[in-house]
Amino acid sequence: MKNCCDHKLDQTQAGEVLANFGLNRTKTKISILVVLSHSKAPLSVVEIHKSLKNKCDISTIFRNMAQFKEKNMIHEVNLGEDFSRFELALNDRKNEAHHHHVRCRECSTISLIEKCDLDLFEKMISKLGFKEMEHSLEFTGICSKCS
Ligand SMILES: [Zn+2]
Ligand SMILES: [Zn+2]
Ligand SMILES: [Zn+2]
Repeated sequence: MKNCCDHKLDQTQAGEVLANFGLNRTKTKISILVVLSHSKAPLSVVEIHKSLKNKCDISTIFRNMAQFKEKNMIHEVNLGEDFSRFELALNDRKNEAHHHHVRCRECSTISLIEKCDLDLFEKMISKLGFKEMEHSLEFTGICSKCS
């Protein structure tokens, strides 16, 4: 199945990504990028914190995520919970990795929707004179196990 991120980063590659974006190669930053790049679904800060081998203060992760967001390295995804989730957005400009998600309201399982079929909207919006459109659209429902 498709992952949220097309690049599975190892520690070295994550360090290179940080350098490319002009960020310090700290152990925590590297670990966060590695974890995000291997995730099948967008992760909350708490989930990222749990999956880090080197334990650090959760406030460090919040701070690092804010830096990643400022550099447009990650996407914030809202799936109708009282917290945000994040996924890597490193190859987003080319739109190769563009996808949507659906979260089960009972068990919180998240599935990827690989195909995006919003041409009709893009056509209408381009008639309004807009270019370089971006969109986010997320779904919730009840999965087959829970229904
Ligand atoms: Zn995703
Ligand atoms: Zn479910
Ligand atoms: Zn889309």
